[in-house]
Amino acid sequence: MKQQLMTPDHPRWEEFIQRLEGPEGCDFQGEYDDEGELIPDSVKWECAGGEDKSKAVAILKTMPGIDIAASLSFFEEQGGFCDCEIVFNVEKNHRSRRESGNGLGLDG
Ligand SMILES: [Zn+2]
Repeated sequence: MKQQLMTPDHPRWEEFIQRLEGPEGCDFQGEYDDEGELIPDSVKWECAGGEDKSKAVAILKTMPGIDIAASLSFFEEQGGFCDCEIVFNVEKNHRSRRESGNGLGLDG
C-alpha cells in the first residue's frame, strides 16, 4: 500500500488537527467572554517549540498508511516547525497559497 502525506487534502486531516489541538496534542485551553467569544490573550497550550513535532508524530503513528517523515517536511514547507505551528500555519498557508496562486503571504 502506498503511503500518503498528511495534508489538508487528506480525508483524516480534520481528525489529525482536532487531536493535535486536544489533550493528546497541544491541549489548547482558553477562556470565553460573556458573548461566547474566545479571549485571545487567555489561550494557552503546550508545545516544546523549536522544531519539536513529537505530539504530531505520536498522532500520525496511530494513523496507518501515513508517510510521517514526508508529512513533517510538508508541514515545515507550510510554516509548521513545531506542534502548535502545525495547528496555526499549515492549513492556512496551504489554502492561501492555492487560492492566491502566488504564494505570497500578505498578512500585514
Ligand atoms: Zn509550537
